[in-house]
Amino acid sequence: MITLHTINELQTQLTPHQKKEETIGFVPTMGALHEGHIQLVREAKEKCNCVIVSIFVNPTQFNNPDDLKKYPRQLDKDLTLLEKNDCDYVFLPEESEIYPPHLPKISITLGAIGEVMEGQFRPHHFDGVVNVVARLFELIQPTKAFFGRKDFQQVAVVRKMVDELHLPVEIIDSPIVRSESGLALSSRNQRLSEQDKEAAVVISATLKKGLEWAKKYPPIVVLNKMKECFTHPQVKLEYLQIVNPSTLENVNQYWVPGATACIAAYCGEVRLIDNMELTPKGK
Ligand code: AMP
Repeated sequence: MITLHTINELQTQLTPHQKKEETIGFVPTMGALHEGHIQLVREAKEKCNCVIVSIFVNPTQFNNPDDLKKYPRQLDKDLTLLEKNDCDYVFLPEESEIYPPHLPKISITLGAIGEVMEGQFRPHHFDGVVNVVARLFELIQPTKAFFGRKDFQQVAVVRKMVDELHLPVEIIDSPIVRSESGLALSSRNQRLSEQDKEAAVVISATLKKGLEWAKKYPPIVVLNKMKECFTHPQVKLEYLQIVNPSTLENVNQYWVPGATACIAAYCGEVRLIDNMELTPKGK
């Protein structure tokens, strides 16, 4: 595995692959890697000639300075894990390389996709995501880029960005990886105590109940039942919505294929998100 720090090093290594028209698979991350990230590396490895993972804790997508300060960082462990999983390149850029002075800011109209849920509760978050992903795509020029469905809305935003900017990259999304208890793996879980982790299971448990109820009841009934059962003294619900996967608008009376329940909740001061598809996409 080759570690790249600068754009120069990056381009020197990637140019020969591009010249040979090899497929480059890209997995953007913020580090503190776990099995959720590794699943993306494996999928990229299967589908591409070479795989590059970036580790960059992007300050512009954090709306909460304390969250940025406390975001887990464990570079040595991450590098060992990536090497073990046959990653070819890891890109560790400095902030000054990603955001040089005078870099034009990308501003695209995301519409409802960018305004609801995470967009509503984390102002400017997707602005930061769009700009960092576009910049990384520009530098790496990947053939395919791999994202986790854990960040369901992020996948929708990135797809919209790729469409709007006509970028020649295929976006591939992968299922959520969970712990045995059902808790979705997340770098932020490192900030949870064992007791917090037990409490946080209410999030995935509520989603699983939603999946069962969706077989019997209309969306609005399921939503209300899920909200009623989301009770835990330690976990505070920020939002719980059932949305259309294409528009991210609320689904109320009738089910649509791929309707997805999305939750954001605080366990102490740690903000967690999770989601589950309640109706099959092809139905
Ligand atoms: P992050 O480092 O949190 O920015 O995540 C990097 C990528 O890994 C994103 O595409 C995430 O959606 C994905 N990811 C994070 N956690 C999981 C998980 N539990 N299952 C699947 N993908 C995940």
